[in-house]
Amino acid sequence: MIIQRVVLNSRPGKIGVPVAENFRLEQSTISDTIQEGQVCVRTLYLSVDPYMRCRMNEDTGSDYLQPWQLSEVADGGGIGVVEESKHKNFAKGDFVTSFNWPWQTVAILDGGLLQKLVPQLVDGRLSFFLGAAGITGLTALLGIKEKGHVSAGANQTMVVSGAAGACGSLAGQIGRLEGCTRVVGIAGTDEKCSILVSEMGFDAAINYKKGNVAEQLCELCPGGVDVYFDNVGGDISDAVISQMNQNSHVVLCGQISQYNKEMSYPPPLPPEVEKIRKERNITRERFLVLNYMDKQEASILQLCQWIKEGKLKVRETVVEGLENIGAAFQSMMNGGNIGKQIVSVSKATEG
Ligand code: NDP
Repeated sequence: MIIQRVVLNSRPGKIGVPVAENFRLEQSTISDTIQEGQVCVRTLYLSVDPYMRCRMNEDTGSDYLQPWQLSEVADGGGIGVVEESKHKNFAKGDFVTSFNWPWQTVAILDGGLLQKLVPQLVDGRLSFFLGAAGITGLTALLGIKEKGHVSAGANQTMVVSGAAGACGSLAGQIGRLEGCTRVVGIAGTDEKCSILVSEMGFDAAINYKKGNVAEQLCELCPGGVDVYFDNVGGDISDAVISQMNQNSHVVLCGQISQYNKEMSYPPPLPPEVEKIRKERNITRERFLVLNYMDKQEASILQLCQWIKEGKLKVRETVVEGLENIGAAFQSMMNGGNIGKQIVSVSKATEG
């Protein structure tokens, strides 16, 4: 069978800025028949995520991430529909997902690597399983629960950077649901800031590309910051941490502003900020959602319930076509997305 796939065309280099041309669409073939234990799936949605930047390097710098190889098919979170199955757990028409879904239109996968999805959990909005009802939602929820020390009644102020992105937009809303009384976002455009306040229930939002972040924070968080959900690192995080209270907590989710640099993870704070962190006993422990997969099932149910109840507002930025996945990745890395960046490859009703 002839299929389309996307391979890694070139590496941006550790300190280069990734571009769409780092990926290449090509035609390929897969077998017309499947073996015992295998499933033939048609791809519906693919996810592009910041961690993929590391996979573009020859050495990802982390033991749980494998580098993509040149001229080989890239992979990541994906969702598809079963076209044919020789695995006991799956039947034609089932919706399935995997963290290592190949970037191709149709694929033959080992059934053992797939998880079955229940579309009713998200009222049929299947792409949510790559975002709010998937790893992104888990990251926001478990990051706050495991590292945020949010406690209802404690009158806490939370600040979220990367606030209009996939994780950030959920983290602010979950912070509020868990009991924070003031939630302030930091994002890269006025449109994003306005959506955070009007749609997602943030009290205020700062456009970090305009004006002075430290001054605006000081005004918007007069009682200081108790919980900081950090998606970006760098200058923005230095400004926030400098305004954090005694015994407060950073949820060290990600450091996207540093991903095109050669740096250890997590990047150390500048000495003057590290001094403040120590003096004020601010925790900043590494957080990796994959370490909490024992909590996956219950947490996904919680997220789905909030989505159904309208307590969690979900935004997506959807790009159509496998051929545009490189452009979608580049755009997401540069702030082109509001909410989760999704690539729609084919429709559930096709086929
Ligand atoms: P997002 O949807 O937030 O997309 C990335 C966003 O980052 C862009 O939209 C852009 O928004 C912002 N950004 C890009 N460059 C910069 C910069 N230099 N300074 C400030 N902001 C920047 O992606 P995700 O929600 O998928 O990921 C958010 C973070 O969470 C990432 O750091 C990621 O690595 C991390 N993560 C961590 C996990 C964990 O287990 N710890 C799991 C999943 C994600 P803007 O317009 O505001 O600049």
